[in-house]
Amino acid sequence: MSFDYNVLVTDPLSGLPIGACDHQQSFERYVVNSDDFRTLNYALTAPALNMRAPINGTSNIQIWVIEEEVQSDDPTYGWQVLLDTNRIDETTQDTFYKIVFNNQIRMVIPLIEVSYITRQAYCMKCGGLGTINDFKIGSNGDPSHVTQTVKLAQKALKWVLTSQDSFYPTFVCPIKSYIGQKLGIQITETDIQTEIMNALASLQTVQQAQSTVQNLDPQEILKDIVSVSAVIDPNDPTVIRVSATISNYSGQTAPIAFTLRTNQ
Ligand SMILES: [Zn+2]
Repeated sequence: MSFDYNVLVTDPLSGLPIGACDHQQSFERYVVNSDDFRTLNYALTAPALNMRAPINGTSNIQIWVIEEEVQSDDPTYGWQVLLDTNRIDETTQDTFYKIVFNNQIRMVIPLIEVSYITRQAYCMKCGGLGTINDFKIGSNGDPSHVTQTVKLAQKALKWVLTSQDSFYPTFVCPIKSYIGQKLGIQITETDIQTEIMNALASLQTVQQAQSTVQNLDPQEILKDIVSVSAVIDPNDPTVIRVSATISNYSGQTAPIAFTLRTNQ
């Protein structure tokens, strides 16, 4: 069975998000405050910020001093987590904490690193999106794979959304170039529907040619384009909700959907 690397944001069959971010912040760099010699300051903004972001769960904090992990009860570098009463986010009402060494550290430490879990809005790992929009890493540490019907859905989505294909330069879908255009003047919902139909039809053609030289799983071959719809969002006329249903040679259907934002 062949596979592709999973780059989907949601599972087309279950509709559930894939690759949800754990908001783990890894090896952020800190320095010791030069006034009290105890409080950690975020190295990039020192001494303006203590922690860069809120800590979500103090039990997950890990600290390294010169690449050596130090526990909170370390005789020299022991630390505690205290409420940062000077920093309150008025809009999000987030609570901030600061990490403070138990003893004053008067020697200059070249490298202090802190790993912790934060909240989504402050997450550098997913950029606040909640999911990691890249290759999904499976539990074994390798990229997770998509096969069969999900692979077909991902392929169809890629085919429609990627307007360039160096292997098949004539089979391009102009959908990507519609982003930011004026709806109703430069493009219409019918244009979008037509281009998706054309792109999926060329995917069918390519797969038919491919199947003469290579064994394809019936579940990953596009049989019919069951439906394609492009509808303007009733609440926002700049947003077009596109959805399509495709079927494979194993009698299953897979939905594909995306949102296109145009200029008014
Ligand atoms: Zn995150």
